[in-house]
Amino acid sequence: MLNIIICGAPGCGKGTQSDLIVKKYDLKHLSTGDLLRNEIAEKSELGIVAESYISKGNLVPDEMIISILAKNIKSFGIEINGVILDGFPRTVAQAEALETLMSSNGTEITVLLDLNVEKDELIGRLLKRGETSGRSDDNLETITKRLEVYETKTAPVSNFYKNLNKYAAINGMGSIDDIFGRIEKVLDS
Ligand code: AMP
Repeated sequence: MLNIIICGAPGCGKGTQSDLIVKKYDLKHLSTGDLLRNEIAEKSELGIVAESYISKGNLVPDEMIISILAKNIKSFGIEINGVILDGFPRTVAQAEALETLMSSNGTEITVLLDLNVEKDELIGRLLKRGETSGRSDDNLETITKRLEVYETKTAPVSNFYKNLNKYAAINGMGSIDDIFGRIEKVLDS
């Protein structure tokens, strides 16, 4: 099985590259951001709580996100080629929970792909996306907060996978095709 984590700061292109990876390698795509936005659109109890964190640029509490993920991973069954986790884990506690969850499902993470993009480029991409995305968190104030949260809470997740020898840094600057080419090199090697 090929189980990939795609990680990087907000605006690094995780969603775009995930779509390309899913097509080429026939994986299931699991985006915790998308799952939360679905809950918000349905105005579920969980969605209402999640929105109060997301709109301020904060992370949703670990317990909440881990239980959403566990529910979704179980529903996949064993017949799939693998999964791409987009936007999860975002804290070391989530990474630890993921290790346990994967081994209890008889599988493991293959690699974490870390998309590296310069800060000015990230802000530019997110502001541009905000013109059409309708997302409550694509505005300058929330973007600044999300980048701070990324540095303090999510960047340490890279070290967790470096220590497991399951880490690959990807240059996330340039065209979508160029970036995907770099990812293919890692996944095909
Ligand atoms: P994304 O679409 O991945 O940029 O996620 C949008 C927002 O959803 C994030 O800024 C967080 O507030 C929340 N979120 C998504 N995934 C997670 C996660 N794994 N842990 C905590 N919060 C998350």
